[in-house]
Amino acid sequence: MINKIKQMLAQVTDPEIPVLSLGDLGVIRNIEVDDEQVIVTITPTYSGCPAMEVMEQDIIDILTKEGRKVGLPTKIKVETQLSPAWTTDWITDKGKADLLKYGIMPPSRSGKIICPQCKSKDVELLSQFGSTACKALYRCTKCLEPFDYFKCH
Ligand SMILES: [Zn+2]
Repeated sequence: MINKIKQMLAQVTDPEIPVLSLGDLGVIRNIEVDDEQVIVTITPTYSGCPAMEVMEQDIIDILTKEGRKVGLPTKIKVETQLSPAWTTDWITDKGKADLLKYGIMPPSRSGKIICPQCKSKDVELLSQFGSTACKALYRCTKCLEPFDYFKCH
């Protein structure tokens, strides 16, 4: 049953990055199911992120809708766990590959940043803050495409 729930949750994506599922984002800490309810524990990517409320509702919606077909309890609870804090290291390798395909440079501990379009290493920082606070805006000096870099934290 837990695996079925995981599959359902794979359909829920980060509202800001539609290619990244919650599983690949690494925010799902725990899934519990008993006769009465399903409890999904998530760790927010960063505190005060408005996207988290959307995610919570999406989790409830999908588990209510899809869960009915497989006999899941209809009571769905989403709990948040703040410690340990989420880090970009929790993004799966698949998640990172999906980000790159989507045109966002995934978090890089080595600090090596390449252009998602042409893979050139010749990039320049335009702004520490891109479309959201967790991203920085870069530009490739080869193909001149601007792109977001998902900062490590
Ligand atoms: Zn480029």
